[in-house]
Amino acid sequence: MLLRARIVVPVSQPPIADGFVRVHGNRITAVGKWAEAEHKSEADDLGEVILLPGLVNAHCHLDYTDFVGAIPTPRSFTDWINAIVDLKADVNDTAHCESWLHGAAQCLRHGTTTLGNIETRPDLLPKLWAATPLRMVSFLELIVIRAHSDAAQAVADATDWIVNHKPPRGRAGLSPHAPYTTKPDLLEACAGTGLPMAMHLAESAEEDEMFRQGTGALYERLAAAGREMTDCGSGSPIAHAQRNGVLRKNLLAIHGNYLDDDDLHLLAENQVSLVHCPRSHAYFGHAPFRAEALRAAGVNLCLGTDSLATMRDGDAELSLFDELRVHYEEFPDVSAETLLQRVTTNPARALGMVGQVGELATDAFADLISLPFRGPVEKAIETTVNHTAPPQAVMLDGQWEVPPPLFVKGEQ
Ligand SMILES: [Zn+2]
Repeated sequence: MLLRARIVVPVSQPPIADGFVRVHGNRITAVGKWAEAEHKSEADDLGEVILLPGLVNAHCHLDYTDFVGAIPTPRSFTDWINAIVDLKADVNDTAHCESWLHGAAQCLRHGTTTLGNIETRPDLLPKLWAATPLRMVSFLELIVIRAHSDAAQAVADATDWIVNHKPPRGRAGLSPHAPYTTKPDLLEACAGTGLPMAMHLAESAEEDEMFRQGTGALYERLAAAGREMTDCGSGSPIAHAQRNGVLRKNLLAIHGNYLDDDDLHLLAENQVSLVHCPRSHAYFGHAPFRAEALRAAGVNLCLGTDSLATMRDGDAELSLFDELRVHYEEFPDVSAETLLQRVTTNPARALGMVGQVGELATDAFADLISLPFRGPVEKAIETTVNHTAPPQAVMLDGQWEVPPPLFVKGEQ
């Protein structure tokens, strides 16, 4: 299949005016200028569009999609935790699957083709994987709070499951949920597997207080739930993660809303990637996000949607374009090129899929989206990061999931 477009934005190289992408099976086999394309008569001309890689959403909880608008902005993070625990208690398997699939459909419609998702019910996952074309990076959530729970067994069970279950597209890993819902031996066991990991880290002021001071509402709540609290009161959540071996290249740190300079350097030194979720950040009213300091420290920074349970807008959908816009409004000095990398090549690296997703390049998966565009090539990236509507077309694994309205050739 040969696709021609007014502009091709490969991300890993500068935009190409009047470009082409050749697809064979589920892979890209060539990208370049139309004038240099071979076998031109085979082409499908997409016309006045920007053709770019499908977006890579590094963090989501698909199963919370149907909770949109269910939790008004809470007074505190601990209040939100209490509210979500109550909501989850009423969700049966059918409702879980429906919500997950609603979220997957939204991601796809808004141009995400690879998704890093936290999974809470692995028993349902093979069925869900088979029901979406999305390229899934599924992190199995591990929550082990009580002092006497067997953390090593929990990690061994999850690892066994991963060895025996492969998503049709993508990969699986572990998500020790957060420092406050896990124990040091669980973190050490996760780190020992070498699997991809994603962990909520330094998300709230209360988590920060729990680990730095050994006090506060979250500390009290977890102590009451039977957590051994002797690991609190000795440094930041990031320092805690470092002590227990999880700060490493295969870790995606989620949020990082409360980071001091030492934390930034620990993340950078250990090549940890970090995903920022702009709308979730705004919902909680967290401290200003240190995007510029993270970039300057050399941390691989990505954007994610988080779930719809942390959106102010009750009509919100899982759209990375919406996150990009909020992020851009907050950081107007960041270049459009850098912003685009935060939803393409950076999350590809964070999810261990460099060269496979997030760019249009030879041997990458044929995951593409197109946006209507009639302007000059110099405006293509700026237009892309300000885009609002769902993409015009979405291809995943070489298949049109949202077909182009009409190929130009078909109109002749
Ligand atoms: Zn999350």
